Amino acid sequence: MLVNGAVITGKGSETAKGRSAEEVEQLRVVLRERFEALDAEYSLAVAENHKLRLVEIGDAAGDDQADSGSKTAERDAATSLLRTLLDRREQAELALQRLAEGTYGNCEGCAKPIPAARLEVFPSATTCVACKSTRERRAG
Ligand SMILES: [Zn+2]
Repeated sequence: MLVNGAVITGKGSETAKGRSAEEVEQLRVVLRERFEALDAEYSLAVAENHKLRLVEIGDAAGDDQADSGSKTAERDAATSLLRTLLDRREQAELALQRLAEGTYGNCEGCAKPIPAARLEVFPSATTCVACKSTRERRAG
């Protein structure tokens, strides 16, 4: 568990290469909110999924083939939603960890800090806009 403000102390301290303490703090808040939103969404999905299963067990006896087919599809969709949410929650958690370690948000291409504004929109971005478009041009 991260203690509020414990990571950033002293004036002018930089926890990430070339990024100000204010920016790090700003990103921490954004990532934290994101993590909490995903965590809540995941818990909700788990509860929904559980309900779905209970209903299924309840009326499995009278099922015909078509019915159980659509239930399987419904269950598959619910399972893949859970997996997606879990994945995104893990990403947010990892980002928070890396932010605390000072390894979050630096471009894989040029090693400069990715602008905080970009990270707020795309928290899992690993390159700055310039390097991303260079890569895309190369790939395309
Ligand atoms: Zn770059």
